[in-house]
Amino acid sequence: MNETSVRKTYKEKVRPTPAQEAALGVVLWRCRTLYNAALEQRITLYRQRGICVSRSTQEAELKDLRAAFPEDAAIHSHVLQDVLARLDRTYQAFFRRLQRGDKPGFPRFHGKDRYHTFTYNEYGNGARLDNGSLVLSKIGRIAVRCSRPIEGTPKTVTISQEADGWYVLFACDSVPVVPLPETGRETGIDVGLKVFLITADGEAIENPRHYRRAERYLVKCQRRVSKRVKGSHRRRKAIGILARAHQQVRRQRADFHHKTALALVRAYDIIYVEAIQPANLSRRPAPKQDEHGGYEHNGASRKAGLNTSIQDAGWRHFLTILACTPACAGKRVEAVNPAYTTQDCSGCGARIDKSLSVRTHVCTNCGLILDRDEHAAKNIQWRGQRLGGLVA
Ligand SMILES: [Zn+2]
Repeated sequence: MNETSVRKTYKEKVRPTPAQEAALGVVLWRCRTLYNAALEQRITLYRQRGICVSRSTQEAELKDLRAAFPEDAAIHSHVLQDVLARLDRTYQAFFRRLQRGDKPGFPRFHGKDRYHTFTYNEYGNGARLDNGSLVLSKIGRIAVRCSRPIEGTPKTVTISQEADGWYVLFACDSVPVVPLPETGRETGIDVGLKVFLITADGEAIENPRHYRRAERYLVKCQRRVSKRVKGSHRRRKAIGILARAHQQVRRQRADFHHKTALALVRAYDIIYVEAIQPANLSRRPAPKQDEHGGYEHNGASRKAGLNTSIQDAGWRHFLTILACTPACAGKRVEAVNPAYTTQDCSGCGARIDKSLSVRTHVCTNCGLILDRDEHAAKNIQWRGQRLGGLVA
């Protein structure tokens, strides 16, 4: 089978000495300060003189800045450039979403707890691996134990501070992979209400049981934080425990998503999914107006009660991972238009209105009876195949 190549990010734990840790902390602090200052400059100049400050203008000013502040002169220029690039990306994403008609939040200033990473945008220039150590210019050699060999061409190096310590991320190009064998099978998948997902073949993948246990533990940690006096040492300690609990939940979820995605691409060559909608539109039933101009019950409150925003976020994360997995495996994930996948009968095409509480699809036209979620997954597959010219 032909080898192909993909982009891949390797993440490894680093073990800085206390002095190095302090130095990394200083870089983060200066990067955050620069980010906030650059954001303020953009806002002020726009308000006062209607000027849109560009990234290149801000980059040109970096030289003066480094001359004026010795703390900044001690930081690799690429790291500071990346801060401005990051701000620029945030701005562009903001305007893109504005144009699309969303209601994005304005780029915001970052507090101490909201700035955790800095990036060397060119591997070998300020940051490189050498004989099992990470070498950062002006900081030194940091111990790193690579859990697996890094393949491909490293492009950027990012240092990240997390609840349990420091990490390094190598973003690599041209990482060779051997595609998974083809199975000749296709399917559609949909998010389930009780299970995590369901395929068009009716196969359900359950939510892992540890979710609920982790949730209860998170609530406990959160409660401990809110009971403690603000600014106290005990509260800081409780916040640390809460942060580690959150980190653990995120990792468990990512692990589950990766495993589920891999199992799917092993079993199927093409997987059809509903296209992801903007967060503020996703899966919220449209308001239903009655003949007196009032609003009828549309099931929205019921959905809210099911904590769907959390479920949506999880689903979104999973789809992102799934979309990246096939690239590694030489398979395909295709998104289809999500309108009416629940309502339209997969047997005859008739539109059968149903509220959210109706868990079974019963077609009054052709007599098809199916579980609601499985039926939607079948529709998603059918839609995808028809669009691809592969009518089943
Ligand atoms: Zn039907």
